[in-house]
Amino acid sequence: MGLLSEGRPLKWTEIKDALKQIRTYGVDQLIQVYHKCKNRQRDAFTWGDEVELTLVRFDHENKKVQLLLKAHKLLPALHKLNEEIQDEACRIAWHPEACDFVVEGVPFQPYGFLPSHFNTVEANMRLRREQVQKLLAEQSDCDFILNIAAFPRYGQGEYTHPAIEYGSSHSVEESLCFPDSLISPIHPRTKSLSENTHERRQGKASVNIPIFKDSSTPSPFRDNLFKDDPNLKDDHIHLDSTAAGWGCCCLQVTFQAESFEGSLRLYDQLIPLCPIMLCLSAACPIWRGYLSDVDCRWNIISAAADDRTAVERQQENILSRYGPTPFYLTDEKRHLNDLDFPVCDDVVQKLISQGIPETLSRHFGHLFVRDPLVIIEEFLHPKDDSNSYHFENLNSLVWNTLRLKPPPLDDDLMGWRVEFRPMDIQMTDFGNAALTVFVALMTRVILTYNLDFAIPISQVNENMNRAHHRDSARQEKFYFRCGNEISEMYMNEIINGNNDFPGLVPLTRQYIGEREDIDADTRFTIEQYLLLVSKRAAGTLMTNASWIRQFVLSHASYKQDSVVTEEIQYDLVRKMEQISNGHEDCPQIRQSNMETHTDLHAE
Ligand code: ADP
Ligand code: MG
Ligand code: MG
Ligand code: MG
Repeated sequence: MGLLSEGRPLKWTEIKDALKQIRTYGVDQLIQVYHKCKNRQRDAFTWGDEVELTLVRFDHENKKVQLLLKAHKLLPALHKLNEEIQDEACRIAWHPEACDFVVEGVPFQPYGFLPSHFNTVEANMRLRREQVQKLLAEQSDCDFILNIAAFPRYGQGEYTHPAIEYGSSHSVEESLCFPDSLISPIHPRTKSLSENTHERRQGKASVNIPIFKDSSTPSPFRDNLFKDDPNLKDDHIHLDSTAAGWGCCCLQVTFQAESFEGSLRLYDQLIPLCPIMLCLSAACPIWRGYLSDVDCRWNIISAAADDRTAVERQQENILSRYGPTPFYLTDEKRHLNDLDFPVCDDVVQKLISQGIPETLSRHFGHLFVRDPLVIIEEFLHPKDDSNSYHFENLNSLVWNTLRLKPPPLDDDLMGWRVEFRPMDIQMTDFGNAALTVFVALMTRVILTYNLDFAIPISQVNENMNRAHHRDSARQEKFYFRCGNEISEMYMNEIINGNNDFPGLVPLTRQYIGEREDIDADTRFTIEQYLLLVSKRAAGTLMTNASWIRQFVLSHASYKQDSVVTEEIQYDLVRKMEQISNGHEDCPQIRQSNMETHTDLHAE
C-alpha cells in the first residue's frame, strides 16, 4: 500500500523547490525515531503478508478476458463488510493499489509468534479471494478475482472493461498503450507519482524485454506500435509507462524483529534469499501479448519505475529506485558491500554523529540520494514532532527487494520490521501460502541455528539477474555460501542439499522436528509447503512461469511466433481461474495429494 494520504499532491516543480527542506525534515525525523526506538527489546515475532489480486471479466461468447477496472467501487464495500465482522481472524484489511484492476489484501491483524499461525496463512488468503468474489458475483457471473502476476496482454489491443481510450494524448506519460484511466481514482498518490516520475526523468519510460524467439518469430522482431520510439530495441517487447510496472502483482512478507539490532541482522540474512525466492516464485513469462525470455516481473518494474534522467542513467553506480537491495546493514557485514553506490555525505556524517552505526548510516545516506516523488501539501511543513511523515514517505518511495521499516513516530506499538519484497504472486492460495510460510520459517531457522548465507552484494545482484532467465529454477546456477566457501549451485542443491550443504528445506525440517510446540495440523500443513518448495527446486514441479509458458507453447492455435492471442489468453486465464478455485487439478504445479489442514484460527 505504501503511505496513503488524502490531500493535494504537490507538482514536481513545487517539490523541487522544497527538496532541501524536505530532506532536512526527513533526516531529523529519522534521528528522532532512532533515539526513541533504538533500545526497544523483546518485541514479539509478528508478521504478515500482502497479496495483490487482479480483477478480470470474461467474455465467453467472444473468447476474451479483460482487466476489470472496478477496484474503486469494490473497496468501500469491502471496508464496510469487514467493519461488520466481529471475529478478527475473519477480517481482512483491503488497500487500493496503483491500477484500478488491482486490490491489495492483508490480514487484519498481523500473525503472531505461535507456530499455529503458520497454519492460518492459506485460509486467510482464501478468505480474501472469497470476500471479493462474493461481491463480484452479486453483479455478474463473468467477473473474477485472480492471482495473476502480470496479465498476459496488458498493454495490447483492447484489454480493459469498461473500454478506455488509448494513445499518447490520454496519458501524462505520453504512453501509447497505458492511458491514465488505468490509474486508481481512489489512490491519492499514484497519479502524482506517474506525473512526477515522468517530469523528473524528462522523458518516457522505456522497458525492453527480450522476446522468446520461436521458429516463426520474425527476425528481427520489432514491436510495431513503437516503431517511431527511439527507445525501441530489436528483438525486444517494449513497454512505455510506469503503469506497465504498477500493474504487476507481487507477494510481500513483513517481519517484526525483537529489537533494532535484530532487525539489521534479519535484513542482512534475507538479502541472499531474495534472488532465490524470486526464482522459485517466477510467474511472468508473457508481456504485452508476447512470450518473452524472462520469467519474473522484478527487472521490468525496475525499468518502468525508473525516475533517473538520461544523464543519471549514464552514471553506472546509481540504479533505478526500484532495484535490488544496495547494502548490508550491520557493520559486521560491511565488507560484503562491494558496490560503490552514492550517498549524501552530509546525511551520513549527521547520522553517525547521532550514534547511528556507520554501515546503517550509509544505507540511509543512499536513501536520501533519492528525491521524494510525491508530497502531500498538507504534510509539507510538519506542525509538530509527532510523526515521521517525511522519512516514511521517502522510505516507501524506494522499492528495494528488502525494506527496513523503522517504527513510525506516532505508533508506540510498532517495532523494527523488515519487509521481504521480491516474489511474484502465485496462481493459487496454496502456492502463495507455501512461499510466505517458507520465508517466515527461514527467518526462524537462520536465527535459531545462527546460519550465515551472506555473499557480496555484487553476487546477489548477479543472482537477481539469473533468476529472471527462462526456467532459471532448473537451468541456472546461483552464488551461494556454504560454510566459508561461496560456490555456484543449482536451485536443487540450495533447496534440497548436496554433499557439502544440507539444503534449506532439510534445515527447515530439522527445525520443525526439534520444536515440540507445533500442533499436528500445523506440522502437516508446513510439510506440504516444504514439499512444494522442494519439488519446484528439484524440477519435478514447475514454476508458475514454466507452466504458463508450456500452456501457450502447446495451445492448438499457437503459431510458433511468440504471439499470445486473445484466444490463448482466454483459455489460459480461464484455466488459471479453474485451478485457483479448486475446480481443476494441475499436477504440473501441485501434486493432487498436497492438501493442507489450514484454518483461519490459530490454536
Ligand atoms: P506496505 O504496503 O507499506 O508494505 P501494508 O500495511 O500494506 O504496508 O502491509 C504491512 C504488512 O505488515 C502486513 O502484512 C501486516 O500484516 C504486517 N504488519 C503490520 N503490523 C505489523 C507488526 N507490528 N509486525 C509485523 N508485521 C506487521
Ligand atoms: Mg501494502
Ligand atoms: Mg502493494
Ligand atoms: Mg508492502
